[in-house]
Amino acid sequence: MTRVHDLAVVGGGVHGATAALFCARGGMDVALLDRGPLCREASGVNAGTLTMQMTRVALIPYALRAHAMWASASEWLGHDVGVVVCDGLSLAFTEQEAEILTYRAGKRREAGAPIRIVDGREAKRIEPGLSDEVLIAGHCEVDGYANAYLTGLAYRRALIEAGVALHENRAVEGVDQGDGGFTLRTAQGPLRARRILLAGGVWIEPMLAWLGVDLPIKTLINQLAVTERVAPVMQTVIGVASGLLSLKQYPHGTVVIGGGWQAVGDRERGGVELLPERLVGNVRLACHAVPALGHARLARAWAGLEAETRDALPAAGPVPGVNEAYVCGSVHSGYTSGPYIARLLADRILGREPDLPLFPIDRLLAPDPSEGTAP
Ligand SMILES: Cc1cc2nc3c(=O)[nH]c(=O)nc-3n(C[C@H](O)[C@H](O)[C@H](O)COP(=O)(O)OP(=O)(O)OC[C@H]3O[C@@H](n4cnc5c(N)ncnc54)[C@H](O)[C@@H]3O)c2cc1C
Repeated sequence: MTRVHDLAVVGGGVHGATAALFCARGGMDVALLDRGPLCREASGVNAGTLTMQMTRVALIPYALRAHAMWASASEWLGHDVGVVVCDGLSLAFTEQEAEILTYRAGKRREAGAPIRIVDGREAKRIEPGLSDEVLIAGHCEVDGYANAYLTGLAYRRALIEAGVALHENRAVEGVDQGDGGFTLRTAQGPLRARRILLAGGVWIEPMLAWLGVDLPIKTLINQLAVTERVAPVMQTVIGVASGLLSLKQYPHGTVVIGGGWQAVGDRERGGVELLPERLVGNVRLACHAVPALGHARLARAWAGLEAETRDALPAAGPVPGVNEAYVCGSVHSGYTSGPYIARLLADRILGREPDLPLFPIDRLLAPDPSEGTAP
């Protein structure tokens, strides 16, 4: 007889893997399918920053809880993702940046993030590697980073231990709805489930189209770089008020430099070309913030794909009009907040009341109110 899973999760990034894990631990028979290895798209190539200072205000309550999850990953995930909890600084070098920083830090503080504004001298006491040119900084003790590359290894072990039927390198080509559930079409044969969760990152848009739902998802092509191992040059996570820098040094000495500088690519081809002038701009900003970095050599640069909805808030909830179908993704700073949001959705799928509200996609299916109507 054909096995019918309680839940099939399509997409094994941090959202799909977390939801699969908690649903399995909640007693469901779960299958997880990814067209490649687990967490080798955005969830494995990101900058690993776990910060409140880049997170959207509306997501701060989620990000705080997610940060606590990452900090205790050894307890609930059971395997190491190299999480380091440390101070974070968001820098302002000009009066204009100071104004932006003060405003944004205030909004995030109102939402619960423990961010205080400090002057350049205090910032330098917290981070001795810092430039003398910092006017003010946002300082947050709830910050840190993980080693994104380890994410897939950690989740793979946890999912197998939880009894999830893990199908890596098995792309889903389409979904048929029928009595009592869904049939997922794959080259290796069909897979049946009573419920489905679409957690495909930037590929959520084509996945929802399988169910006749049209949800445009923007694809960001983020560029990152890493240095060779160098002697300690910094001990905090550093950003700038404009958001164009994220910087941290890993315990083994490499420094990851990011900040959302865009490369060339798209959802179909991936990140196909880095833009050297942007890489130089990003690295210059990094050396401006931490001058000792000027002596480091770059080892590698790469690009990854990040999803964004039109209001930059998550798509996390039931799929309207399709019973027992769910979607989870497009979370801004989604590596930071993803595990908590996916866990909330797992609660919903398990029939429990989530502790915080989800982000249903109905709002995104209505016409965009910011777009004017034709005369
Ligand atoms: C370069 C970069 C840097 C970033 N830096 C940070 C950061 O420092 N901090 C932070 O908080 N966030 C960061 N982010 C954002 C964060 O990485 C993402 O929001 C998050 O990882 C998205 O997770 P996801 O599970 O939604 O998607 P993904 O990790 O992209 O997972 C989607 C999965 O779906 C699979 N899939 C697609 N199509 C199919 C199919 N047809 N069948 C089966 N499987 C399929 C893919 O193979 C993939 O594994 C960064 C993103 C990028 C790209």
